Amino acid sequence: MEEDGGRRWPMVVLTASPFHGHMAPTLQLATALQAKGFSIAIAHSKLNPPHPSNHPGFIFLPLSDNVSAIDDSSSFTRFIHDLNANCQPSFREHLTRLMSEENRGDKSIVVIYDYLMFFAGGVAIDLNLTSIIFRSSSAAYFPAFLARRQLHQQGQFLQQEFVMQDVVPGLHPLRYKDLPFSKSPIEDWHQLVAIFSKQRNPSAVIWNTVKFLEHEALSKIHEHYQVPVFAVGPLHKITPSPPTNFLEEDTGCITWLDKQAPKSVIYVSFGSLVTLDAKVLTEMAWGLAKSNQPFLWAVRPGSVRDSEWTEFLPEAFREETRGRSLIVKWAPQKKVLAHSAVGGFWSHCGWNSTLESISEGVPLICQPFNVDQGVNARYTSYVWKIGVELEVLERGEMEKMIRRVMVDEEGEEMRVKVGEMKEMVKNAVQNGGCSHDSLEGLVGFIISSS
Ligand code: UDP
Repeated sequence: MEEDGGRRWPMVVLTASPFHGHMAPTLQLATALQAKGFSIAIAHSKLNPPHPSNHPGFIFLPLSDNVSAIDDSSSFTRFIHDLNANCQPSFREHLTRLMSEENRGDKSIVVIYDYLMFFAGGVAIDLNLTSIIFRSSSAAYFPAFLARRQLHQQGQFLQQEFVMQDVVPGLHPLRYKDLPFSKSPIEDWHQLVAIFSKQRNPSAVIWNTVKFLEHEALSKIHEHYQVPVFAVGPLHKITPSPPTNFLEEDTGCITWLDKQAPKSVIYVSFGSLVTLDAKVLTEMAWGLAKSNQPFLWAVRPGSVRDSEWTEFLPEAFREETRGRSLIVKWAPQKKVLAHSAVGGFWSHCGWNSTLESISEGVPLICQPFNVDQGVNARYTSYVWKIGVELEVLERGEMEKMIRRVMVDEEGEEMRVKVGEMKEMVKNAVQNGGCSHDSLEGLVGFIISSS
């Protein structure tokens, strides 16, 4: 516990889930709280652990997760169940030990947990500690998840009973197809709902989003939880924090970008989890080739089913795009999006990627797969009008979308809009801005509740 002019500052224990898109913002939040003066401990799974050398000053608490990496053939629901069941005992041991050290007393630790690791909330409440949920998805995902759950409780199943393009009543502008897990097997979804309904109510909720972007959804979240909601994003703009070492970044692509004309390059990446068929990747390759635009494409090794990397792409594609293309395994994405040569981002619309694109004023081509990506894509294209949604996975359609964003007047209009949003983000994280103030509010909440 830190002493500050007589005030006693609690230690903040954060749980980091093994997913890169969750781990990175959790570590960013931890870094921001450390800068405010809190001592920090990170409880993490042994699968995809953070690297302690990147975070001097943090205490690391490994949890006995006993889970293996999730892939196409494994069930997400089973994974979440096992992760929570297996990590719980070692988390309790760590907390009990920390509480007994240095005479902390029973209220000197505050727990902030990734909502996928909800075992931590239960343990904190049992030990009479303040527990706060941290969500790294979009706020709009939450009402969509609740609506999806409600449909399920009414015995309505998406694939069978609805026209997927129809708007969900009471959830405008979201369509059935935008709802989370709309393509997952019904049984899997049934179990997921059962698992998540075991969560216990937190004392507060933190969201990696910005109030001006998601005001309405944040109000719904407040109505649901009836506890303070802190929108502190985008966290990567609040505090510079080191990479997570998920994969080694290919920094050579920045040198390549330096040689390209301003706003000429389309950057393509589908994040850390998406897997797709070689057939779709081949269509994408030809869409890119036929668009005649320079492109930088991050293809994660193992992300194409039954392939190591991109070895199946035809020689004719490589010939046609030679000199105006670069394919890498993992890009320094935030730096890429901030580069003046990048004029568009073809993305799966993971929430980190969406926020990073908005923060740098880059319009998007949205190709959502699952979880919150459909919701994010819908807001990006239909509400904020800073992108287009790709719905037909064929080369001709892909070429058209690239042109709409990179070449056409329409793309320029999107660029102007997203440029204005970039400025709003800049203001939000500065002194007096909404995210800055929300973070200050969170600091006050942690101190007063411990
Ligand atoms: N990312 C990166 N290099 C890549 C691809 C992705 O650094 O080549 C980062 C990206 O900046 C973002 C994260 O990986 O912070 C992906 O998170 P997101 O929420 O967009 O998607 P997820 O991986 O969770 O599906």
